[in-house]
Amino acid sequence: MSATILLVEDNAANRYLATFLLENSGFTVVHAHNGAEAVVAAQNEKPDLILMDIQMPEVDGYGAARRIKAEPHLAHIPLVAVTSFAMPGDREKALGAGFAGYLEKPILTDTFISEITRYLPPQEGTRP
Ligand code: MN
Repeated sequence: MSATILLVEDNAANRYLATFLLENSGFTVVHAHNGAEAVVAAQNEKPDLILMDIQMPEVDGYGAARRIKAEPHLAHIPLVAVTSFAMPGDREKALGAGFAGYLEKPILTDTFISEITRYLPPQEGTRP
């Protein structure tokens, strides 16, 4: 069984590329388009990993991360921020909001999958 990844991204082009790379590697991808949708999707889909944009309408990535980490039955899901918003202090802010890690955009097609696989629970990695 392949791991399910919740991709939270409001930009269609970014969503398309990440989805293409993930599905090409055998992951099941479910989508949310803002932080509020992300919390609902995390509850409904029980993903193995959440990739989260930071700058989004409604509820941003920090707010969504805090809400997810506040839910006892969701708090174990690894959260990875994926953002172009890379200023000094952003990494610390992301880690403080509950993110396990932080990837910078634009995503690099050669290394994206190996980067995100590091955050999956070991038994949920890609399998042939
Ligand atoms: Mn965005």
